[in-house]
Amino acid sequence: MTAIDTLPPLRDVINTHDLKARKSLGQNFLLDLNLTAKIARQAGDMSGCDVLEIGPGPGGLTRGLLAEGARRVLAIEKDKRCLPALNEIAQAYPDRLTVIEGDALEIDPLAYLTPPIRIAANLPYNVGTELLVRWLTPAEWPPFWDSLTLMFQREVAQRIVAQPGSKAYGRLALLAQWRADARIVMNLPPEAFTPPPKVSSAVVHLTALAEPRFPADPAVLNRVVAMAFNQRRKMLRAALKGAAPDIEDRLIAAGIKPTERAEQIPLEGFCALAREIAKP
Ligand code: SAM
Repeated sequence: MTAIDTLPPLRDVINTHDLKARKSLGQNFLLDLNLTAKIARQAGDMSGCDVLEIGPGPGGLTRGLLAEGARRVLAIEKDKRCLPALNEIAQAYPDRLTVIEGDALEIDPLAYLTPPIRIAANLPYNVGTELLVRWLTPAEWPPFWDSLTLMFQREVAQRIVAQPGSKAYGRLALLAQWRADARIVMNLPPEAFTPPPKVSSAVVHLTALAEPRFPADPAVLNRVVAMAFNQRRKMLRAALKGAAPDIEDRLIAAGIKPTERAEQIPLEGFCALAREIAKP
């Protein structure tokens, strides 16, 4: 019998510990352990890695990560009602699960982790997007993590993997794809969760590249992309007017027609433009 079999079913855990889902914490739980094991497997071979899990809740995905062989899991959960259930899992997997109560947006997990590090989470989407942006924009690259396996609303997942020419294409796609490989690896209907959310979800897997796909200064690239997509319907020569006085010349030097719109410009074009704008 594996350790996962010695723990009670998640529905019993929810009842025993009175873990009625709270909307304010974005709680939509995954209670099917076959499903959480499948999500955990999307993180790849974890036997030589520490895994950072944000928002373990009653521990469905945590159990998946441990059963699928994660060397160690560090789980950060804001809702202290979940801690007794998570401590039971820690006892079933001696020395492999550390649980911290707190807000993942405020805790620095690095003190508790040994590389290589992977991150896995099923989080409320607003917290998930904020953390994703932080993980994608560290002060130095490569980042502390090797891969991210994250559940998002399907619409947000599509924005992460979007290609030029689509409505979903924007800052998130460029940020993610500049320094990582990003793909949607699973789609989940609302009924996969308890209670079911209003929309479908998807798991996105991102692998950090050793180096950015194309050279550019991160701050300049970030600024140019933000300006371009803040006025995505405008031609770039208008949307980027504040980026440089001779923006038309710099666009042309970067191989971009000044009459094009942000949505049409591939990542490579934005990086070339960031390099042109960074020139004195
Ligand atoms: N991972 C569990 C699962 O798949 O069943 C729970 C998922 S539920 C969508 C999101 C979890 O994140 C909840 O347990 C919630 O309490 C927790 N959470 C919400 N905001 C958080 C934050 N800022 N830091 C840490 N955990 C948070």
